[in-house]
This record gives sequence, structure tokens and C-alpha cells, in this order.
Amino acid sequence: MSMTVPQMYGSLVFNDKVMRDKLPKDIYKALRKTIDKNTHLEIDVANAVAIAMKEWAVEHGATHFTHWFQPLTGFTAEKHDSFISPVGDGEVIMEFSGKELVKGEPDASSFPSGGLRATFEARGYTAWDPTSPAFIKDGTLYIPTAFCSYSGEALDKKTPLLRSMEALNREATRVLHVLGNTAVQSVTTTVGPEQEYFLIDKEDFKLRKDLIFTGRTLLGAKPPKGQEMEDHYFGTLKPRVAAYMHELDEELWKLGIPAKTKHNEVAPAQHELAPVFDTTNVAVDHNQLTMEMMRKVAEKHGFVCLLHEKPFDGINGSGKHNNWSMTTDTGVNLLDPGKTPAENIQFLVFLMAVVSAVDKYADLMRLSVASAGNDHRLGANEAPPAIISIFLGDELTAVLDSIEKDAFFGKQEKVTMETGATVLPHFAKDTTDRNRTSPFAFTGNKFEFRSLGSSLSVAGPNIVLNTAVAETLSEIYEELKDVPAEKMAETVRELLKKAILEHKRVIFNGNGYTDEWVAEAEKRGLYNYKSTPDVLPVFVADKNVDLFTKHHIYTESEIKSRYEILLENYSKTIHIEAQTMVDMVNRQFLPALMETMDRAASLVAKKQQISAAISCKAELARIEKLSAQYDGIYEAVEKLAADIRIAEGMSDELGLAKFYQATILSDMAEVRVIADEAEAVIPEDILPYPSYAKMLFYV
Ligand code: ADP
Ligand code: MG
Repeated sequence: MSMTVPQMYGSLVFNDKVMRDKLPKDIYKALRKTIDKNTHLEIDVANAVAIAMKEWAVEHGATHFTHWFQPLTGFTAEKHDSFISPVGDGEVIMEFSGKELVKGEPDASSFPSGGLRATFEARGYTAWDPTSPAFIKDGTLYIPTAFCSYSGEALDKKTPLLRSMEALNREATRVLHVLGNTAVQSVTTTVGPEQEYFLIDKEDFKLRKDLIFTGRTLLGAKPPKGQEMEDHYFGTLKPRVAAYMHELDEELWKLGIPAKTKHNEVAPAQHELAPVFDTTNVAVDHNQLTMEMMRKVAEKHGFVCLLHEKPFDGINGSGKHNNWSMTTDTGVNLLDPGKTPAENIQFLVFLMAVVSAVDKYADLMRLSVASAGNDHRLGANEAPPAIISIFLGDELTAVLDSIEKDAFFGKQEKVTMETGATVLPHFAKDTTDRNRTSPFAFTGNKFEFRSLGSSLSVAGPNIVLNTAVAETLSEIYEELKDVPAEKMAETVRELLKKAILEHKRVIFNGNGYTDEWVAEAEKRGLYNYKSTPDVLPVFVADKNVDLFTKHHIYTESEIKSRYEILLENYSKTIHIEAQTMVDMVNRQFLPALMETMDRAASLVAKKQQISAAISCKAELARIEKLSAQYDGIYEAVEKLAADIRIAEGMSDELGLAKFYQATILSDMAEVRVIADEAEAVIPEDILPYPSYAKMLFYV
């Protein structure tokens, strides 16, 4: 029996339709109120919801439930409990209570807490997030939850995300009201994350320790062909890949994830999937699930899905484009330039709130995308530079320009909002050009933050965006709140002008990949944090601690703990990479090189036996060259190993991260340069793992 797509879509989700069908009317209403208005949920409501949820889940084959959460590992976590409850006589019934729905107590001692949770207090709590729907996967009912410590500190990515959405909601609504748009009761942020990934054959994967342990290749000569022909981009899907994508779509649809577009990317073996956007919180959960399903479905098709930011040197890496906007409960996209005058003023205010936020908190935005993996991409002419700037396109830039120069709002005329806005051009969606080099681009009715790495949760960047914009909106509110109606238009105009003057330095419509831009950005005073250890300390800078604490996103200790975890993760990641490289070089690569030389040497010996007059020139030349490379690699890998030991003796976390960045990574590069050169002449039957050519072109 095959299902149609509409039947399939959301069939495993406890969504609004199911809730309406299954819940008593008053319970449904109470739950809706909690979801839409963030009101407290009473336990009797929770009990009724739990019963309906369990019935629905059991009907769909579920035997277990789990609280599903997002600890600071960057992955999701779950602990399954069955619904069964013994009732004597060896019989069981299926039970699930409101208490079990609302709260869980996983033993959380092994999740990173950055010192927030004392070791004796291993308990963590998970709390149901009713704004993200529950779903069934592999016979288990998944309940999205937030994860916090005994004393209420957030230990996850969802809690601060929800807090940041609330902050933005509060500030945006106040600004709308003061602008006279009192119909709006709430504002939510929306996100559509485009996800890139690689598919390689499972058999190849299994032979590469580097991919297994680190997610990226640490060695590998360039294949004869790379991505220079750009023939893979939007190319025809190979049948095996098409079958994978088809099943992935179906699995995602069942989970209510609106997977929409799929295509081949620029690099060979690289692909992309984009969903239709959703409320930020749901989009974040869905992106986590999407990454998980990408991996899982790949296994079934004999593939491994690589989500690392830079699996292959010399080949474009993978990122994520975070499309972001703000929508009112009256259905208006606040970043849509729109047709009616009032919306245009509104649009300009919100546009400038975003521009100001990005300029003021560009350091935090850079921080929010920082990871060891993403350091290989940012600024490497395949992804946006590490410098955060905004692309607005010519039209919008011209609009701001004329506001700055009073061209639209001449002082002589009597200016009302209406006349101010009628002269604004209407921006058709696709008149904003594409600029792939910009980290933060206006794309018609939303912003696209393009610096994100492919493997990271999109929670972090959205926490920063929401909070920074909430802050600039709160400043706007402070300026406008006491202004009488008849003065409003003029005050808004002055405010916009001031904001433009102050923050236009962050607007850049040119090519972000050039050295000229790097120099220009420095002149403009923009941040340029080149690596993760460079940028991490901005997390604990006063201005940023003030921002987060003011809007109740993080407490000071939550910030400190997250900062520590980020530092630790960075160092650990590179530590593992370095160890893996030493292992591969000593136990696989150098032996392969020895064998290659041995083959040549034994041929020389055999030839000499036949006749001393036969030339052995080529063999000897090859041995000589390989021998020199062998020495070079040996020395470089010994240095790497020695430096790893130095790192192991260091205790200052920031110093350590910097040491990994400056010393260990360049040691690794040293090894790799010579090894990749030598690999090019190692016979294919001797190299104990698949080459780049094999992995990238034989799927
Ligand atoms: P492209 O980036 O190729 O122009 P689209 O404009 O269709 O493609 O959008 C790309 C992504 O942006 C999709 O995931 C889409 O759902 C999302 N998106 C569109 N509108 C919004 C919005 N208002 N808020 C957040 N994301 C959006
Ligand atoms: Mg896009």
C-alpha cells in the first residue's frame, strides 16, 4: 500500500491536526494557548495530552518514548523508556503520564557542562517544549525538550534559543506598537537552513581512519580532475544518488520536515538539501533531524554521508545557509519591502535594526560559526570571508543613501509617513542580485547568513541574530516610546539617518573574496577573526556579556561554561586529528612508501643479476626521490608527535587552543605537503586506503 505525498507528509508527527482530532476541545485550547502565547501549562492539561499522545503513538507502532534534547556536544541525545507498566499476573498495560511528558531526569553527568554542574550533582532535567511537535522514529515517541541543570542553568542549545526568540518577540512587538501597528500581538523569527553534504561509498569510508576518527581526510593527493570544470553543479543525479535522495525526502516528509529542493553542488560527490522555512525553533530541531536522517538513509544505500565542513582538501567544503526573517502573528514578513507605504517605513526600521545589530555584534556572529572544521572554509575563496559584512544590493543601498542625504525626506516638504514611502521603489523579490561572496546577504525578503558550517547546529547563529536584533530594536523603542504621533515620522526618519551613518560601514556589495576587501574592511574598522581561538574570547567580552545578560539569554556563568566548552572542543578536535595523522603516517603511509621503494630496489637487484649493463636509472632516481621524501615525512611526523606531547602538558585552555592552531596545524600541513607529493607515485595496490579519485568520482 503506497501513500500519496500529502498522506505521508507529517504522518509520524503529533501535529496540530492530530491534536485537534485527539484532544478534548478545552484541552486543545489550553495547549494551543501555551504554544502560541508561551503560557504556563497546567498538569491536568499535560495529563490529558499525554494520554492522547500515547494512544496515537501506540496506534503508530511505538512502544517507547524519549525526551529528545540538544546538549552542548552539538548532537542530539535521547534515553528511551517503554510505555509498559506491569499490572500483576504477568500482564502489562501501556502507560504515559503528564509528569513523564513534561519532565525527565536523565543522568547527565557525562554531558559537557563547562563546570556548571558540580560532579556530585549529576542530575539534569529535561522539560517538554510544546512549541516543537513530538514525532515517532524507529518505534519511539520523540518529545522535544530543553535540558537544564538542577539549579536551572541551561545545558543545551534549545533553552537559550527559546529565550532569544522571546526577547525578539518582546522588543519587535513594542516597536511595532509604537509605530502604530497595534494589531500585532507577537513576532516570531523564521529560518530555512540549506544543508550541504558529501556522499561517498561506505566501503571506501571504512578504509580511511581519518574519515572514521575525524570526519575529514588528513592525507590525499589531488585527483587528476577536481571541480575545475564545474560540471557537477546542478548536474544530472546519478541513479544511486537519486534513489538516496528520494528515500531521504520521504523519511523527512513523514517527520513533517518540508524538504523542498535537492541538487548536486559544485564539488564532485557534494549535494544540497533545502527545506521550506519554519519557526526558528522548529527549523533548528528539523535541521538536527535532517542531518541524522541523512546519515541513516545513507547507510541503507551503501553510502556514508559526510557532514564535515572540509572533508577533502582542494575541493569545496560544505556549509549551511541560514535564511532568516521575522514574521508577525498577522502574517506579515517584516523584511518584505512590501507595497503599502506603512509597511515600507516598518520595513526600513526593521531593516536598519538588522544592519545595526550585525555591525555591533559582528564579532558574536563570527563566533557563532566558529569551529575547527569551519576554519578550513571561511576566507578560503569557497565560502564567505571571516569578515562579517552585509550585502544589500544596489537598490536598497540607494534607498539608504538617499535617506542619509535627505533626498527622500526633504526638510522643505511636509513629510508624512505616506509621502516618505510612496517615493520608495517597490523591490521586486528578484531584483536583488546574487552575491555568493557575502556572509550576510539580503535576498529580497529575508537575510541569508552564509558563514555557517555544515555540521554545526543552527541554534548558535540564530541565538546571536535574534538577541542582537532584539537589542537594536530595544534601543529604537527607547528612542521612540515618548514621541507624540505627529512627530513620529520625522523622528523615525532622523533615527534611520543616524543608524545609517553609524553602521553603513558594515554594508559591502562587492566581491568579498578579494584582498582589497580585506584591506578595506580593516580601514573601516570591521572585525577580522581568522581562526576559532582568535574569536572565542569575544564570548566573554564585557559588551557581549552585557548583551546576553540584559536580554536573559545566558547568565554570566552560562557564558563562561560555554566558552570553556568551545575552547575544549576545539583543542580536542585537533588533538584527535593530529593523533590520527601520526597513526596513519606511521602505520600505513610510510610502510606503503617503503614497499614502493622495495619494489624498485628488488627490480634493480634482479636486473643486475641478468646483466650489469642494463640501465636502472629510472628505478634509482625514483628510490632516491622517495627516500628523501621518506626522510622528510619521518622528520615532520616526529615533530608533530613531539608537539602533541607538549600540548598534553599544557593547562591554560586558551593558550592550548592557540598552540593547536598555530603549531599543531602547521606541523600537520608540513607532513601533508610531502606525503601528498609522494602519494602520487605510490602504486594503487600498495596504498592501503582509497585515493581522492576513487572516493570522489566512482560513486
Ligand atoms: P534561494 O536561496 O535559492 O533564493 P529560496 O529563495 O527559495 O532559494 O529560499 C531558500 C531558503 O530560504 C528556503 O529554505 C526557503 O524556505 C527559505 N526562506 C524563504 N523565505 C523565508 C523567510 N521569510 N524566512 C526564513 N527563510 C525563508
Ligand atoms: Mg540560498
